[in-house]
Amino acid sequence: MSLDGTVALARRRYADGHPRSRDVADRARTVLPGGNTRSVLHFDPFPFRVERAYGCELHDIDGHRYVDLLGNYTAGLLGHDPAPVYDAVRDALDGGWSLGSVHNDEVRLAELLVERFDTIERVRFTNSGTEANLMALAVATHHTRRRKIVVFANGYHGGVLTFGESASPVTVPHDWHVCRYNDVDDVTAAFRDRGTEIAAVLVEPMQGSGGCIVGDPAFLRTLRALCDTNGSLLVFDEVMTSRFSRGGAQHLLGIRPDLTTLGKYLAGGFSFGAFGGRADVMAHFDPAAGGVLGHAGTFNNNVVSMSAGVAALGDVLTDDILDATHARGDDLRTAIGESFTRNGIPMCVTGAGSLMNVHGTPGPVASADDLVGADDRLKELFFFHCLDGGYYLARRGFIALSIEVSDAHVAGFLEVVDRFRIDD
Ligand code: PLP
Repeated sequence: MSLDGTVALARRRYADGHPRSRDVADRARTVLPGGNTRSVLHFDPFPFRVERAYGCELHDIDGHRYVDLLGNYTAGLLGHDPAPVYDAVRDALDGGWSLGSVHNDEVRLAELLVERFDTIERVRFTNSGTEANLMALAVATHHTRRRKIVVFANGYHGGVLTFGESASPVTVPHDWHVCRYNDVDDVTAAFRDRGTEIAAVLVEPMQGSGGCIVGDPAFLRTLRALCDTNGSLLVFDEVMTSRFSRGGAQHLLGIRPDLTTLGKYLAGGFSFGAFGGRADVMAHFDPAAGGVLGHAGTFNNNVVSMSAGVAALGDVLTDDILDATHARGDDLRTAIGESFTRNGIPMCVTGAGSLMNVHGTPGPVASADDLVGADDRLKELFFFHCLDGGYYLARRGFIALSIEVSDAHVAGFLEVVDRFRIDD
């Protein structure tokens, strides 16, 4: 059978096995454009609908059980129902939740973040990673009195901060200069030509949504040096990579950004974002220090996210747990790659620690350029094969392990991976 035929068959088998999810998908399309309200969650022919989640398991309304290897695109690092987070939120709710005032947990959470991240001297909370990046760019342009922002092709910094293969019509209209990721010459040339105009460089230490493409340490160090020489601010978007260690990817790399943005799992699975860094830069939000910037947001200090964050950082995410999850991910990535090679599957896997992405090319993949010509059908087949075997990952091939994923889950998944074949 042709590859197209195999994909069509896989879709049909999936659709036949999920009749209830199909019915709800049909209903959804009549009230939600595209049938959903978070584009990344869609896959063809329609996504299964979750009824219940606990630990690292998802149960759908059609009676299937999946081991969740996606972990809500990294926001679910703690699994679906971590007890300390549940208890903390319940206690917080007992005290009321739409306060319109300040409370203790926002201070405690800020203290926990400042303790963990060396370079974060002051921090502010937002509702999402997108907002955190928007605020970081706002303060960077204000601080430097410059407008240009260097970002990288294939980067993702939020729903309105997307730099894929072509310009996204929903990306906010900053004065962007888009360079190639991991290309020292390209970004050096940008600074040579426009250094005095560049307010900030916004970069992911590993391009997460772009396919888990790891930043070359020498490239990231060059960004630090270029910013230093030109009076620009270096902003590390650690919304995904902060899980790499207690102090994030920056701690492992030994690079000190001026500002860092955070999000995802840090509020134990509830909505969250934060931006912080150098005290003198963040002082623009402090009227007592002469700061003139406001930072609004009805839910910035909402008691659910703040109390959940205190429990997540204070009680759950010890250094040992973060390090063990990172190591488990490194081992899994290596084993998936070995399985592909052993079985002659023309695919590869990239990433670091508990975050990884399979690709429809044998690789190696060191930049987005290496993904040109990759066969998306291979990833789709792999996705349906894993679902059939009881393991859920993103349709785009992304895996984000939660701390609930055990060695036994990993072993079971590797058995499924090892059975993957392509009938062409
Ligand atoms: N930055 C990075 C690196 C991300 O991966 C994401 C989300 O995937 C964001 C920012 C946006 O975060 P949010 O979805 O919370 O707005």
